[in-house]
Amino acid sequence: MARGKKIYEGKAKVLYEGPEQGTLVQYFKDDATAFNAEKKAVIDGKGVLNNRLSEFFMTGLHNIGIPTHFLKRLNMREQLIRAAEIVPLEVIVRNYAAGSMAKRLGMEEGTQLPRPIIEFSYKDDSLGDPLVPEEYIIAFGWASQQDLDDIVAMALRVNDFLSGVMFGVGIKLIDFKIEFGRVYEGDFQRLILADEISPDSCRLWDIETGEKLDKDVFRRDLGNLTDAYTEVAKRLGVMPSNPSQMPKPTLIN
Ligand code: UDP
Repeated sequence: MARGKKIYEGKAKVLYEGPEQGTLVQYFKDDATAFNAEKKAVIDGKGVLNNRLSEFFMTGLHNIGIPTHFLKRLNMREQLIRAAEIVPLEVIVRNYAAGSMAKRLGMEEGTQLPRPIIEFSYKDDSLGDPLVPEEYIIAFGWASQQDLDDIVAMALRVNDFLSGVMFGVGIKLIDFKIEFGRVYEGDFQRLILADEISPDSCRLWDIETGEKLDKDVFRRDLGNLTDAYTEVAKRLGVMPSNPSQMPKPTLIN
């Protein structure tokens, strides 16, 4: 499909105009960044894996009734999505302490939390995406109270779904980040899940060994990031574990 004009380039993805009004093409790059882009690398194959994995999670979430921006995967690196006005919040759901929470509270990483905890960061790279209380969100009009209630309800459902899917393949979902967008349908607006869900935005630990299978492998120099993401994809059956299992090309006469 011929791509439209580039309309936005972020750290890991590029957005192009889509073929129809209200659609965009989301392209997954191989670029990896951490610590607010202070650490950068190009990781062969990451974009292909994240495109596939995000398709897998978004499709599953759609099937349990969560509205998402995902329409269809176009090719190895691109997917067709609904255009949405992004709510300027990173919605973080945590089941176990890790990363910034473990640091802030002096908790050991991996400590189970008494219940899932949701927190919000204001999306602004120049400020380092600061953690913000709900009161800021309402007062500054980034989202209404009704929006926040919907976001929390959806985030908890996403958490239950992802935790269950991951548990089924021997992986513990430590935490993750999601984003929401607004779409307008006639006089109504509603929130849909946007951006991506992939090991770039989740913490995933092997249940048995505690091995990290997410972007911390890159952030903390723990090994090969593509191998970790491939392991997640293989376990979920998203990619064949063995290339010989790929369907053979058939000769067309
Ligand atoms: N996260 C993300 N993008 C961000 C910040 C965090 O996808 O800009 C994800 C991160 O991968 C982890 C969760 O959100 O799964 C919680 O991250 P945390 O606040 O612990 O931040 P970090 O330690 O990554 O700085």
